[in-house]
Amino acid sequence: MKIDGGCHCGYITIEGEADPAKTTICHCTDCQTGTGSAFRVSVPVPGETFRMSGEPATYLKTTADSGNPRLQAFCPRCGSPIYSTSPGDGIQASYMVRVGILRQRREFEPKRQNWFRSALPWVTGLGGINQNAKQG
Ligand SMILES: [Zn+2]
Ligand SMILES: [Zn+2]
Repeated sequence: MKIDGGCHCGYITIEGEADPAKTTICHCTDCQTGTGSAFRVSVPVPGETFRMSGEPATYLKTTADSGNPRLQAFCPRCGSPIYSTSPGDGIQASYMVRVGILRQRREFEPKRQNWFRSALPWVTGLGGINQNAKQG
């Protein structure tokens, strides 16, 4: 399906095509640190469909777990994570776009959880935590 979205401040916008069935949670400690949260939710977008406005800031990080270097892209103004991809020049084969920046985020329900051994223990019990419909 077609997707579009952007960072928190609006400087970076993206569009492309993604299959909601490929939505993945990653619980690895790199994703916990890189998001400042408990886990990351991403979906692959083929490079030939991926379009972006604005110029993201990037850094290269080789994760201890996989051993593969990944280019991490985020908004240089507001810090929103945008995607990760393989290092190299030009259009890459695939971009792992962060689901939280998509306007269609509700339709991207995760189908897989990777690096679950690093998952924070409370993530399986979110439904049992006191819920406020708005800020508590
Ligand atoms: Zn931004
Ligand atoms: Zn991860």
